[in-house]
Formats: sequence, C-alpha cells, structure tokens
Amino acid sequence: MKLNNFFEKIYVISLLSATQRRESINNLSKKYEFNFEYIDAVDKSTIKMEDLKKEKKWAYPKNDFYCSKKCSCSGLGHELNTSQVGCQLSHEIAWRDMIKNEYKNALIMEDDISFHRDFEILFKKISSNVSKNWNFLYLGKLKNVESKKDIIKIKHGFSGTHMYGLSIKAAEKAVNNLYPLRAAADGYLNRFLIQRKYDSAKLKNCYASVENLGFNDSIDGKTDSYIDGKT
Ligand SMILES: [Zn+2]
Repeated sequence: MKLNNFFEKIYVISLLSATQRRESINNLSKKYEFNFEYIDAVDKSTIKMEDLKKEKKWAYPKNDFYCSKKCSCSGLGHELNTSQVGCQLSHEIAWRDMIKNEYKNALIMEDDISFHRDFEILFKKISSNVSKNWNFLYLGKLKNVESKKDIIKIKHGFSGTHMYGLSIKAAEKAVNNLYPLRAAADGYLNRFLIQRKYDSAKLKNCYASVENLGFNDSIDGKTDSYIDGKT
C-alpha cells in the first residue's frame, strides 16, 4: 500500500526557509514514492504573544475569560511560547486546507521526519488492519508502547506531531475547539481533541500504530528518536 492510496492528501509542514530539510523531504518522497504538498510553517518570529492575549486567542496564565477550576489547568491558565504557537498554527493551516478542499483524510508530517527502515512492511500492516472508521491515527509518537497488537485504540494522545493521519471530521473538531490556545500542538491533540475530559472535543475512533513508523529527527533537541533503537 502506497501512502497516497491510503491518505487522500499528504502535507509536510516546513518553514519556507528550511532548504536542507525540504531537500531531505523531497528525497524521502522519491524514495517512498509519495506526492505531497508543503504547508509553509508559521515563523515563530512573526508571533506576537501580546496580540494573542489582547484578542483572547490565548488562554494565557491568570486569564479571567476562559479558564476555571474545571479547565485542565485548574484555573491557572496556560503557559505558551512563540515556538509552540508557531507549530500549533502551522498544523491549523493544514487542518483548514483539508476542510476547504474536503479531503476525506490526510497525513500530516513535519519536515524533520525520517522513516522506519521497515516502513513499507509496517505501513502495509497498519493500513490493512486499522478500522475503516478511524478518525485519528498516530504513525509516529515520542513514546514506545508495549502491546502485542499492531494498532491500539487510544483514549489519549502522545507527545510528537511529526507523523499522524486524521479524518476531515477530526480536522473540523480540531479547528473548532482550538481557540483560545491552551497547549502546544501535541498537548492540544491529547487534551482537547482525543481525551474524554475537560473541554475536549472527545473525538472517537482514534488509533495509534504500536511501532513508530516515523521518527522525529529534529536536531533542535526536541527529542531523540534514536533512543528507540529502531532507526
Ligand atoms: Zn485553562
């Protein structure tokens, strides 16, 4: 199964200036024969936290317009920085593009992705075994999960937004519940889209591949996929 046969659309989020990363993505797409579109990532230097605060687009620490004891923050508000917001807004662009174009589903990757060396075998397994009504599908996560299964149904998300699939329904829920911003992209998907408490959109039919098919190879020190020993 080729990626484009399973996902109607493939996006790669990347800064316009990330020439080297884009080159490696172009090579990856040739090697694994997939077509994709770049989402030009939001540059963190363009983000003004003060404006987000003023416009109530961010549930900032000690805000009095959104957070209460019932919120996941217990009323304290949500600390965020420009990198986290830039990343979140970039994913939002992809979600909105999906909705605008009415793609049934899409795969979203970040430009520091690398594939498992047995990617093709693993993806064949996942794509043929996942429930047809899936709404969210982690192909990569910054965590190893112990299970004898290939795919698990999940009630929470994981760290890492470097490789996941979502349905148009998931994209709509993700966009509709996004503001005020309360978390970085991975925290948002976990707490406000997939989990079943707080102000979550409580998206159903979410799954994760037990094996990580993609790794976050970021040199920014966000993570270390090599710890997995599966590269
Ligand atoms: Zn809160």
